[in-house]
Amino acid sequence: MALGVRVEERPLGDDLCGFYYDAARIVIVDENMLDFQKRCTLCHELAHARFHDVGCGGVAGSKAERRARRQAALRLIDQTEYASAENLYDGDSYLMACELDVTVQVIEDYRGWLRDRPQPTGPMPCVS
Ligand SMILES: [Zn+2]
Repeated sequence: MALGVRVEERPLGDDLCGFYYDAARIVIVDENMLDFQKRCTLCHELAHARFHDVGCGGVAGSKAERRARRQAALRLIDQTEYASAENLYDGDSYLMACELDVTVQVIEDYRGWLRDRPQPTGPMPCVS
């Protein structure tokens, strides 16, 4: 893998989907999750790996956590598919998550990104 990160699946506790351990450059994903959950978790942990974050949680880690969640959401969700799912399900996060094969958390993170990003400036109004 280009990042030089090892990925392993192991049984983890109920409250842990996965984690990244920077000292060993290793990502552990809970082997008991469903495939789409593993994919989302892996994407999230690899975002931590890309920035050598020490891991999830903690006050110091909250900025890194936010960045990792945004990055994972942007990688996992296609903007066009998101827009059509939003229309189809009237913005229902759970149904959209099923449609896009991601977790509800990823939908929420993507929505947060859409809300916070700088608004694109449209074409200049035509003054005639
Ligand atoms: Zn994290």
